[in-house]
Amino acid sequence: MTERRDVLVLGAGLTGLAAASLLGERATVLERESRPGGLVRTERLGDYWFDHVVHLLYFQDAETERCIRDLMGDLLAPCPPRAWVETTRGTARFPIQLHLNGLDSETCVACLRDMAELTFRPPAAKPTNFEEMLELTFGKALCDVFMFPYNRKMWKRPLNELAPSGFTWNIARPDFEKVLRGAVSPTTRAPAYNSAGWYPRPEEGAPVRGMELMPIALAEKAADLRLQHTVTSVDLDDQSVTVRCGGGPEAPTIQVGYNEAMLSSLPLPTLVRICEQAPPELKERCERLTWNRVVSVALAIRGPRPEAPGHWRYYSDESMVFTRLIFMHEFDPMCAPPEGWSLLVEITQPAEEPMPDADTLIARVLADVARVGFLPPGSEVVASKMWEVNPAYVVFSLQNQQIIEDAINFLEAYRVTSLGRYGSWEYSGMSSCLYDGFQWAAEFLRFNPPALDVVVPREKDLVRDGETRENA
Ligand SMILES: Cc1cc2nc3c(=O)[nH]c(=O)nc-3n(C[C@H](O)[C@H](O)[C@H](O)COP(=O)(O)OP(=O)(O)OC[C@H]3O[C@@H](n4cnc5c(N)ncnc54)[C@H](O)[C@@H]3O)c2cc1C
Repeated sequence: MTERRDVLVLGAGLTGLAAASLLGERATVLERESRPGGLVRTERLGDYWFDHVVHLLYFQDAETERCIRDLMGDLLAPCPPRAWVETTRGTARFPIQLHLNGLDSETCVACLRDMAELTFRPPAAKPTNFEEMLELTFGKALCDVFMFPYNRKMWKRPLNELAPSGFTWNIARPDFEKVLRGAVSPTTRAPAYNSAGWYPRPEEGAPVRGMELMPIALAEKAADLRLQHTVTSVDLDDQSVTVRCGGGPEAPTIQVGYNEAMLSSLPLPTLVRICEQAPPELKERCERLTWNRVVSVALAIRGPRPEAPGHWRYYSDESMVFTRLIFMHEFDPMCAPPEGWSLLVEITQPAEEPMPDADTLIARVLADVARVGFLPPGSEVVASKMWEVNPAYVVFSLQNQQIIEDAINFLEAYRVTSLGRYGSWEYSGMSSCLYDGFQWAAEFLRFNPPALDVVVPREKDLVRDGETRENA
């Protein structure tokens, strides 16, 4: 027999949890992993804590902020980000376009000259690919020193085969006056991108640290959260899903259905692949969507903490294996013992490539971290671990916008909404995922107010004379 709820929520990342926290008894949440949170989980190596990937919270709207503050109380501490960009021509604060003073003077002048040209003599042509977009936004000099090498390393695909839009997370050309101010005065504190960040700072000895505290708080509000429940297929006509409970292929399966609507935060290509009714042509097109994984390497280091390294540093040098070093103790000083610190290393890879061997990669990471000066003599790496975050970064190819739209419209026709960073197949931060989840649930509740103790079965679930429930 198929058990039914009003709403099924697939995935207990922030999107699914935000929705479930409002829907209460009306929703069941199905999550593959043994802990909720999706990307927003925190790993512990002894007394050292690491987020799965770096996570700083930026509120984008007052209502989401209110909901999260109500849930988390005083746990969130202000954490305005200080980030740096390492290039072969100098070290600049992030975003580099606002802090050109960090580059050597020749490079700084070249960057200003090219940006001035773009500002005062804007090109007539529109960019047709990502590489052109970068050059038409920042100018050739800044592209040569940072934008091109960094993005080649980040995407590991030809930049002229990527779409000119979609990669909006770190791409903004400020007005020229701000660029000039950031170039002439080393003391200028130009308004940074997303300057008001927040991070949990629980008391000493707390059983959990890191950004995972947010999904934990949300999950407490979800009435029916089922962990280690992997959705393996979706029957859109029957409004039900097949779920594998527990690990391994031998694990039992159950059917769970929905009466009113389904919200999925699974990666869009996964959802389409497991939908029985999805046309083969749509499945085939969705298989062409590509993405990058992040391989995170966590290093628990005993030794003096680096002084003012910033929260994270980007590395554009293509001979270095990582794109970013993240200094967890800058987010929460108690995420490591006082005589040590937690370093999280971010490496991106096309997801279609095989996973690297952990020992080989960790050895390479250690060598490169030492090269950039963050393992001075006297430091000891007391523990290390590698894990995979997959998917991590959606790749915007020249064709994919239409595929995404067609897939989302197909699902909407069956009252299935695909939301979240991977459900919408986009770049989005935690705040917009929370917002989307809360909004979706609020909208659902507005149009589907709870019935007063009257359970109305769907026509197809009614048992007719002479039938048992099992064969109905
Ligand atoms: C490297 C990196 C850095 C980031 N840094 C920041 C940052 O600093 N600040 C910020 O605001 N945002 C940041 N983000 C973005 C943020 O992590 C995401 O926007 C957000 O966590 C996405 O939440 P979600 O619920 O949409 O997706 P997810 O977290 O992916 O949740 C989807 C859930 O579905 C589950 N699932 C998948 N398949 C199945 C299945 N078949 N059956 C059942 N369950 C399934 C997964 O296990 C997962 O729990 C970063 C992201 C990355 C990759």
